[in-house]
Amino acid sequence: MRIVFIGPPGAGKGTQAEKIIAKYKPAHLSTGDMLRAARDAKTEIGLEADKYMSSGQLVPDDVVIGVIADRLKKDDCKAGYLLDGFPRTIAQAEALDKMLAEAGTPLDVVLELKVPDEELYTRLSKRGRADDTPETIKERIAVYNNQTSPLLDYYGKKGLLKTIEGLGTVEEIFARIEKVLDAPQGGCGCRCTS
Ligand code: AMP
Repeated sequence: MRIVFIGPPGAGKGTQAEKIIAKYKPAHLSTGDMLRAARDAKTEIGLEADKYMSSGQLVPDDVVIGVIADRLKKDDCKAGYLLDGFPRTIAQAEALDKMLAEAGTPLDVVLELKVPDEELYTRLSKRGRADDTPETIKERIAVYNNQTSPLLDYYGKKGLLKTIEGLGTVEEIFARIEKVLDAPQGGCGCRCTS
């Protein structure tokens, strides 16, 4: 299964992604993890990305698209993957569509994990990651609302979007995700071939 997982910072996407990986075994493609690894390894891309990451800004599209294009070519993606944190802009989504159309491997579903902004502030303030200062938290939520949330409409129009209510216990939320992922795949949601 080829899945895109979208959600604002602090929505619990990382926790749910782990549970999806454990149960459905797709390759886990987290651009945040890849960029942090590149930054820690002090590669050229990592040092460039760090300038944006540390202030809560998005890394430029061409950098992230290049990273994902390379990663999608790896063998472990053949059986399916979970794109976690990518795409984050319409330009990235369009680039992804192009890559997948060329490869003949369209997405199966786009999951949105939905959590109100007030709850995000509370959760992120408790998380304590290096880029979780009050200023960057604010910035990342604003960036999500301005640049990433348009993707919901983009994928909604393609009939791929499934919204998951992100309030509740980890298990409750995962049960909602399972319900979507266990449902028959396909455009209209029934078992026909349209
Ligand atoms: P995350 O772990 O997904 O919250 O990502 C951490 C940071 O990495 C973000 O705040 C961005 O600076 C950067 N990043 C991750 N994925 C992307 C992406 N698809 N496009 C641009 N920047 C990204």
